[in-house]
Amino acid sequence: MTAPISAQVQTISQELWQRRDNLPALQYHQADITEGVPVELAEGIFLLRLPLPFALNHINLYLLREADGWTLIDTGISTQTARDLWDSVFASPFFTAHGSLKRIVVTHHHPDHVGMVGWIAEKFPEVPVYMTAGELEVAGRYSDPKRDVVAERTPLWIEHGIPAAVSTELINHMPRYGTQVCALPIGVRVLDTSQHLELGGRRWKPIIGRGHSPEHLSLLSEDGKVLIGGDQVLPKITPNIAVWPGGDQNPLYSYLDTLRRFEDIPASTLLLPSHKQPFVGVARRVEEIRAHHEERLGVVLSACTRPMSAYEFLPALFGRELRNEQIGFGLGEAIAHLNYLESVGLLASAVDAAGLRRFERH
Ligand SMILES: [Zn+2]
Repeated sequence: MTAPISAQVQTISQELWQRRDNLPALQYHQADITEGVPVELAEGIFLLRLPLPFALNHINLYLLREADGWTLIDTGISTQTARDLWDSVFASPFFTAHGSLKRIVVTHHHPDHVGMVGWIAEKFPEVPVYMTAGELEVAGRYSDPKRDVVAERTPLWIEHGIPAAVSTELINHMPRYGTQVCALPIGVRVLDTSQHLELGGRRWKPIIGRGHSPEHLSLLSEDGKVLIGGDQVLPKITPNIAVWPGGDQNPLYSYLDTLRRFEDIPASTLLLPSHKQPFVGVARRVEEIRAHHEERLGVVLSACTRPMSAYEFLPALFGRELRNEQIGFGLGEAIAHLNYLESVGLLASAVDAAGLRRFERH
């Protein structure tokens, strides 16, 4: 007799946890990280931590020392605090002793990564800015002053069961991209991700990840010593993977699929993440993230005891009450899990005459 689907999924996640446990524990870098103070983690590679005004209260940016200046990887969200910290870094002997800014490379379009690009580019007008094509496209769409991409989410929210009053709340409270991101400079260059990049005296292989954002850039040094991971592989937390209008409708599949590109990272590689502490042990973290998502998929399947809208899955998926903009992000994540399960044939969905989509066991 075949085991129930939720039991099968649970078995898969147990196997993945087992695979994780067979790999050496993560070794966290012992660097003492202070906001606004660059700290060298590998030769010529400096972590600069900036504060964020969210529960996730910081971001790690990276400065790569060139023979005659600096390459900057990501920039922070647009706040006065970030402006003040950048002003002090740019004026510091640490920075000026090695020349000026040479280029900015952005891992992806999220405000904590791209937010200060426009402001920095005004200070250094000759400096080229590089992004992947997929990230530049969505950054442009979200920045368009003629559009309100939050309000454009209403049909998706209604289809997935958000009550009209909650939808209005979300439109009123979800942050707008333009308030967190300075207008991008004209002439952002599209990165050729088929080529190695020469940055900070090293050659880097681009690794594209999908699912968290459309064409997220990570960079692995050719000698395998350092991986600048962006948000794609993080310690302790997993990146938000959500369905948005106009974007990837099966982002969890895309994320897990491209996560495989991180399986063969050497065991000794130091991962420099955009959040939390750098560490060695990428392969183990990849197995952990896989097991985590497989477990969440099992939770969603177990909760599906009758035809249900994505909104009705939120208590099972999160185990706590979501408030304000958390509902918008949480619903996007719920739809991502449901669409994944539908794409592998474990759930089916249909839209009723009132336009409400419900999922049920296949
Ligand atoms: Zn991100």
